[in-house]
This record gives sequence, C-alpha cells and structure tokens, in this order.
Amino acid sequence: MKKDDVIEVKIEDMGVDGEGIGKADGITLFIKDAVIGDVVQAKIMKMKKSYGYARLLEVLTSSPYRVEPKCPVSRPCGGCQLQALSYDKQLEFKENKVRNNLKRIGGFTDIPMEPIAGMKEPYHYRNKAQFPIGRDKDGKLTAGFYAARTHSLIPVDECYLGAKINEPILGKILQIMEQEHIEPYDEKTHTGLVRHILIRFGFTTKEIMVCFILNGKKLPKQEKFIAALTEIPGMTSISVNRNEKDTNVIMGEKTITIWGSDYITDYIGDIKYQISPQSFYQVNPAQTKVLYEKALEYAGLTGTETVWDLYCGIGTISLFLAQKAKKVFGVEIVPQAIADAKKNAALNDITNVDFFVGKAEEVYPSYVSEHKEEAKAEVIVVDPPRKGCEESLLSTIVSMAPERIVYVSCDSATLARDLKYLCGHGYELKRVQAVDQFCQTGHCEAVTLLQRIR
Ligand code: SAH
Repeated sequence: MKKDDVIEVKIEDMGVDGEGIGKADGITLFIKDAVIGDVVQAKIMKMKKSYGYARLLEVLTSSPYRVEPKCPVSRPCGGCQLQALSYDKQLEFKENKVRNNLKRIGGFTDIPMEPIAGMKEPYHYRNKAQFPIGRDKDGKLTAGFYAARTHSLIPVDECYLGAKINEPILGKILQIMEQEHIEPYDEKTHTGLVRHILIRFGFTTKEIMVCFILNGKKLPKQEKFIAALTEIPGMTSISVNRNEKDTNVIMGEKTITIWGSDYITDYIGDIKYQISPQSFYQVNPAQTKVLYEKALEYAGLTGTETVWDLYCGIGTISLFLAQKAKKVFGVEIVPQAIADAKKNAALNDITNVDFFVGKAEEVYPSYVSEHKEEAKAEVIVVDPPRKGCEESLLSTIVSMAPERIVYVSCDSATLARDLKYLCGHGYELKRVQAVDQFCQTGHCEAVTLLQRIR
C-alpha cells in the first residue's frame, strides 16, 4: 500500500479524536469523517510503517450509527468531529474512551463506572463564540471560518454548537459594515479593521455581550452599531478590543466598553459570576452544573470539612463546594483568574474561601510545610489541564492523606496515569462518571472519586 492508492475499508473502531479506524492488508488506517460501522472508499494520504492516514472519498455502505450532520459545513469546518455519529453512539464512544484508558494506562480491571451524563438537546450549548470576519470566495462580507489551506472564509450561517442569538447579532453587524464600507481584517496583508466578533450569552440571565476585536483604535459609526445591537432584548455589554498585532492570537490586551456594562452575569447552580470579554468561563454551563454537582456528591461534604481545590481557575468548583464545606482553599497559576475568583466569592457573599496564585505543585507543598495542621484536608479536588498533575503534587497529596480525592479531568489518558499513582499509594478508585460537556466533538470530561484505604 502506498500514497494515493484508493482502497476499500471497513471501519471497526474510532480514535481519540473521533476519526474512523479500519484495517487494510494488516495496516491500520485512520480516516477522518468515517464512522464506526461504515464501509468506505478512501485514498491513502500518508503511510508510516504500521499505520497510515487516508481521506474519505465515498461511503460505500453506511453505518447504522451514521446520521446526517445537522451542519452543512461540518466536514470542512472541523470544529465538530462527531456530527455524523448518532448521539447515543457518541456517548458510548466517550464512555468507552474513559473506560479503556483506565484499563490500558491505569491498569484498572474492575472499574466502578456510572452511566455517562449526556445532554437532552446536544446542540446550541456554547455560551461563547468568536467569529472571524472576512470575505467569502465571491468577495461578500461574511462571518465564518477559514477552511484548511485557503484564505477565503466559509460562511457559518448557523453554528449548531453556538447560542441561537449569534445569528441575528452577526446579521446586524455585517449589514452595517456593508452599508458603511467598513473593511474586515485581512490576515494576509494585515489590513482592514474588523478581525473577530466575540459574543457571550448568559443562558440563565439571558444577558448578551458583544465585543468587536479591531485592528485599530476606534469603531467607525459606533452609534449606529449600538443602536442596532441594543434593539436585541438582553443586550447588556458592548465593547471594543484592540488587537493591532500581526498574530493569530484573537484578542489584544485592551478592551473598552462602548455601551452598557463591562461584564455580563450568569449562574452555575446558585453561584453567580461576572464575565468580562476576556474572562475564562466554562463554555457549556448546563453540563458544567452536572459535572460540579457530581464533584460535590463525590466530595461527600457535611459542613465540617477543609477542602483544597487545586487548579481552581476562577474558583468555580471552590465556590460550589464552599456552600457545603467549612473552608475551601483554591490554587491557580493565572493571576487574573484568582482576581476573578476573589471577586466572585465576594459577589456571592462567600467568606469561607481563600485563593492563592501559583503552581499547584509548588504552592500547596509549601503551604503544607508551613501550616501543616491548617492545611490538612478531608477532601482534595484537582482539575488539571490536559497534561494532568505533576508527580510531585500527587506525592504531596498522598502525604497529606485526605480521606477523599475528587479528580476532575478533561483528558482520560493523563487521568488514568495519575489515578494509577494514587491507587499505588494508598487510595482506591470508588466511582467514575464521564460527563459530555462538548457534544459533537471528541472531547470528554470525567469525574472520579478516590477513597483512602490506608
Ligand atoms: N477548575 C476550574 C478550571 C480548570 S482548567 C473550572 O472548573 O473552571 C485548569 C486550570 O489549571 C486552568 O485555569 C489553568 O490556568 C490552571 N493551571 C495550569 N497549570 C497549573 C499549575 N501548574 N498549577 C495551578 N494551576 C494550573
């Protein structure tokens, strides 16, 4: 088998990013957009010794799990990897991914998995969207995305992951840009003004934020944009962010509010958050609530416990747990996130929390060596980024011997590696649940409970 060969393959499995996996002549092939159960015709794009990558040409026999993607541009866009797979099968795929990693990497045999928590309506769940503004192949102003290897935008009239409110907002903005001859940014020539439109929507409060990200200082015809956008019920904050750098980082440092408030407010459960254009905030608030409620259940709090929330971000889990704990300590590396965490604590009149800036693997051990008794926790929660926890942190956690560890993870491979360490050092895996926060994509969150056995 060599590059450019056209072959027929049955898709028997799915990879971590939702790509189809099949075998031809004993060689494993990864085929994007092919669905488990399909028989496809594909063209070999790249060959390695024992595996290769192929491009889907035609589905010869359609899988029983294949569905028509809702979004007409799901293939070139690439934002969703699983739209062609029925939602039930997506959930099964994600649950299996977590289970298989726990088996293969973690060495666990008896896995106490609870059924995955999926969404009833797995579309339109994102509360944040950043649309590049440009021209399509006919030169028409559009909000969309750059398809691979091109410099013209493919319009996304309706992104099925985004809030429904995005469409009328973009419609109004594009119309005024057209009328007033306001140029979109062209990343090739570094000219033009409007780079991106950021929209954030509070699903609970229905408050809307629009931020114009400009290659320049001022939005021309500002009053006209404001008049049009404020016709939309719920409009709360309109701002301009300056990004004059030749970079693919979306936002610049400076944001100026041109109408309304500097932030929108939203809730996860009973906890209120103020969200500014640059704040980190969970993108699927409904499933975040499901995830945090599970973490809270696993934490088993009665009101007397001290809890450490490591990798706490803007303190979302900390504040959730503080409602049921005696004291919560949060640690996070990004200073702005800790500033937000403190602000959010005050906003909710939560006083039994303390936040520290720094690396979890440094702040926590040093706090422990200075204030051992006070730092003693019944429960430690970790929610690290994809690379998981440093081993030095895991060893400090073990030495502090909390009764329970709740590990929230966005990457089940590093989760499995870290759980293997913890279970080799006095803990037992008690409960595991996957939560589908990113429906239609290959990503999956999981929450696990470990209990101390010695
Ligand atoms: N628990 C939060 C955020 C989890 S995301 C929530 O639910 O919203 C992981 C967080 O870990 C990010 O905010 C990231 O900035 C932070 N982080 C990354 N490396 C870190 C480290 N070494 N120590 C502490 N925090 C870290």
